[in-house]
Amino acid sequence: MLSADPCIGEVLLSDEQIQARVREIGEQLTIEYAGRAPLMVCVLRGAYSFLTDLSRSIDLPVEIDFIAVSSYGSSTRTSGVVRLVKDLDVDLTGRDVILIEDIVDTGLTLRYLRRSLEARGPNSLEVCTLLARESADLEGLGVKYVGFTIPGDFVIGYGLDVDERYRNLRYLASYEPQDDA
Ligand code: 5GP
Repeated sequence: MLSADPCIGEVLLSDEQIQARVREIGEQLTIEYAGRAPLMVCVLRGAYSFLTDLSRSIDLPVEIDFIAVSSYGSSTRTSGVVRLVKDLDVDLTGRDVILIEDIVDTGLTLRYLRRSLEARGPNSLEVCTLLARESADLEGLGVKYVGFTIPGDFVIGYGLDVDERYRNLRYLASYEPQDDA
């Protein structure tokens, strides 16, 4: 059973804590984007849980599209090279885009995505991330909406994976690799 997996460490954010914060951000976006129909761009795959809950907390006619990037490297370490795996279907020209991220760590992925999306002529582009490392330069990266700030430990759950596992946990936990895993 998944719940008995020893790699799932301490619960850092409970289901309830996450849902309460997601609702708050949804209410904030509902106010700040009133009268508009923002396009939520979900960065696959880690942000899918956040996108699902957040979009349902926004009382506006939002639209949704998906983009996927990957960075080469091992499962718990980014390599420094980002590439586009799946592009958007929707034209961004004149749109109010909200980029939905799972976690901003070094900011490499975000820098790449921002460059790519800004080149397509949106009316506005804001970034909304569920998690950000304490070490991340959020101002420099132009991140306006942050769910939670967390320390350096590698985390799993609520969309975040290790080798595609643990995304379906309702909570966020630290990852405790086992010697024989
Ligand atoms: P950055 O480019 O900001 O260094 O890394 C962002 C990406 O690295 C995230 O979108 C996520 O896919 C991955 N990442 C960074 N930290 C973690 C973590 O603690 N857990 C998981 N599962 N992925 C992470």
